[in-house]
Amino acid sequence: MENVLCRPDVIRQTLAQHGFRFDKRKGQNFLTAPWVPERMAALFSKGQAVLEIGPGFGALTAALAETCGSVTAVEKDKLLLPILRQNLSSCGNVTLVEGDALRLDLAFPGLTAVCANLPYSVTTPLLTRLMEHTRLDPVVVMVQREVARRLAARPATPEYGAITVFMALCARCSVLFDVGPDCFMPRPAVTSSVIRLDRIPRDARVPDALRIVKAAFAQRRKTLGNALSAGLALPRETVAERLEKAGIDPSARGETLSPEQFLMLAYHM
Ligand code: SAM
Repeated sequence: MENVLCRPDVIRQTLAQHGFRFDKRKGQNFLTAPWVPERMAALFSKGQAVLEIGPGFGALTAALAETCGSVTAVEKDKLLLPILRQNLSSCGNVTLVEGDALRLDLAFPGLTAVCANLPYSVTTPLLTRLMEHTRLDPVVVMVQREVARRLAARPATPEYGAITVFMALCARCSVLFDVGPDCFMPRPAVTSSVIRLDRIPRDARVPDALRIVKAAFAQRRKTLGNALSAGLALPRETVAERLEKAGIDPSARGETLSPEQFLMLAYHM
């Protein structure tokens, strides 16, 4: 079925009818290319109850409502709620929730997965919350292409950082496809990418590993020995000894360590 909610004329008509104005601070760039929500929604099936963050005018919500068992959509902008009720009136399996996804408890009972076109300014805190406070799996989200590259980066590259290691310790990250600025209204300045995060079993050492990751990347240019000594408040000699025990050169930089090496370090620090 045609996704009319992506049609620029329908979007303009809705803007005029409701006197709605896009709010840049809320990351409001709405999809106008029907193939994008279609391709994202096709990753789900009737057995899944999906959480959507930021439904906007409902283009992705409508596509998900067709492929999934149910959709729970959390929208922060209360001006969008009457529009969403109108646009999604024929979707009996959609529940709309007004609220801030950064504050709400996202572990809604019964939900199994996430699919969203995320507001860019809060992508990292939202992904962190989803990974730490829910078991939703998979998490399929559209993010800025630069963020997607950071999340999927390899060690010893400029994109590799604390968020890369955090995500690698929680999930397998795949970059699925890019979405150009022409696919949105208003047109954003950047290209987006849709990524898929499939959770991996949580290792008990993750919290300790994350303390080490934070210390290692807080002073990225320093050697691991110096960065960990400063960040973990340990004498330099102690850190050097423990790194050597773990088979890691204290003069290496944190950005050269793989997520597995950070996990291993958690045994020794
Ligand atoms: N899903 C729609 C689409 O793809 O066309 C809109 C996506 S738009 C990039 C981001 C949406 O997230 C907007 O509707 C915005 O109001 C909403 N939003 C922004 N911050 C939010 C938050 N903290 N919690 C929930 N929704 C938020």
